[in-house]
Amino acid sequence: MEKLLQAKPVAAEDQPLYAPRVKVYPKAIHGPVRRAKWLILALCLAAYYVVPWLRWNRGPGAPDQAVLVDMTHGRLYFFFIEIWPQEVYYLTGLLILGAIGLFMATSLFGRVWCGFTCPQTVWTDLFMLVERWIQGDRNARMKLDAQPWGPRKLALKAATHGAWVVIAAATGGAWIMYFQDAPTVTWDLLIGAATAKTYFFFGLFTLTTYLFAGWAREQLCTYMCPWPRFQAAMLDENSLVVSYREWRGEPRGKARAKDAGDCIDCGECFHVCPTGVDIREGTQLSCIGCGLCIDACDDVMRKLHRPEGLIGFETATNLAASATAAAPCAPGPKRLAAGMAVRHVPRLIRARTLVYAGVLVAGIMGVSFLLRSTLTLAVLRDRAPIFVRLADGGLRNAYTLKLANKLREHQDYALVLEAPAGLTLAVQDTAQDAAGRPLVATRGDGITEWRALVTSAAGLRLPESVPVRFRLLDAEGHVVTSAESVFLGPRP
Ligand code: SF4
Ligand code: SF4
Repeated sequence: MEKLLQAKPVAAEDQPLYAPRVKVYPKAIHGPVRRAKWLILALCLAAYYVVPWLRWNRGPGAPDQAVLVDMTHGRLYFFFIEIWPQEVYYLTGLLILGAIGLFMATSLFGRVWCGFTCPQTVWTDLFMLVERWIQGDRNARMKLDAQPWGPRKLALKAATHGAWVVIAAATGGAWIMYFQDAPTVTWDLLIGAATAKTYFFFGLFTLTTYLFAGWAREQLCTYMCPWPRFQAAMLDENSLVVSYREWRGEPRGKARAKDAGDCIDCGECFHVCPTGVDIREGTQLSCIGCGLCIDACDDVMRKLHRPEGLIGFETATNLAASATAAAPCAPGPKRLAAGMAVRHVPRLIRARTLVYAGVLVAGIMGVSFLLRSTLTLAVLRDRAPIFVRLADGGLRNAYTLKLANKLREHQDYALVLEAPAGLTLAVQDTAQDAAGRPLVATRGDGITEWRALVTSAAGLRLPESVPVRFRLLDAEGHVVTSAESVFLGPRP
């Protein structure tokens, strides 16, 4: 301390250009914001790791992975949507819509994306949780780092980094699964049969996850991410951001000090902060808006039997109005009452949020219009008779297919039946393609009807009701549309 007092101020031109990193040791905290963050973290991670394993039946010859970027064949599959390379503008449109949604959320609630759902925040939170489980909370970790290297420190650090590498590998592996069939590539990776390119990208994504969430952490948000730099353009005086109510907290002082505000300078708010920010110094670039300082300060206020909310989500308008109303009162309940009395409900409907909402709605309508199907298939099963028994003992169901073609030109499609083995399809008065599949023609700008017959082989034993699906394939064999029905027979 004496040294600090004797230290001479450093002239601006003598200041070093590079300031070494001050390591942040966030403390564990419990409270409603922390619980919300855990819930969002669990949902985001579950979605990320589980989605590649979801299956989606697209018929013969097509991959059955629900979400897949098939680089080899130039296709992007998202459940029932299939995007071709020449349709990549859909993706561009979706990314633009996502950006506008983010602008709107920022203008309403500040950096909610950064604080709750950004992958960097989610994985850093997970890595910090593991670190806390193994090495202990803030004080224990600070003590451990200050200790010389020994067997205990080595074991704890090795366990932490080992766990981080496992999570990073699972994350890198899951990323690969969005580009290749998940079960196949997982098995190939495990037995060493994957391609060199697959191993390269697996290693790359594992390494970046480990470095970003384990080492870089808040440095990535503060120095590498461009978002904090231009998000200020979306904020205004009515945006809800994490704020310290200075009019209530200042002047800081001990809990029982006379004429002191509500802030007792305990430091809990920045001890829990994942980026090491002291929110009492105002809104800062490094503050990701995670709201953990709200939980920490509310905890302190409860222990002091004072109202919560010294730090909270607040608008600049309300902060200014409260400060003006509270100024004439001395610190205490009267000042608190005066400051809180003038608070207004934040205005959600403002010129900028209306513009963002308008662009968003117009964009969603535009994408829906572009994605609308130009061909629909309706299948009507004959009700009388429900089925016909043939001379050889087989059964036959008849269906009317209605094809509505919204294009001007006529189109031909191959019709295939997806049904248990032993059921065969025939379409009346139509030709067949080279593969022997019935070809159904649709006239342009109208509805065309076809009669389809599905027959079961003689002696085939089936339940009373069997689900079947009719699919229309284009000349390249891609499913254009499909419709479900049932094949009915007698009760077994
Ligand atoms: S946690 Fe609350 S009381 Fe403690 S220093 Fe922060 S603002 Fe002040
Ligand atoms: S100051 Fe508060 S809201 Fe901002 S990053 Fe730190 S804990 Fe989160």
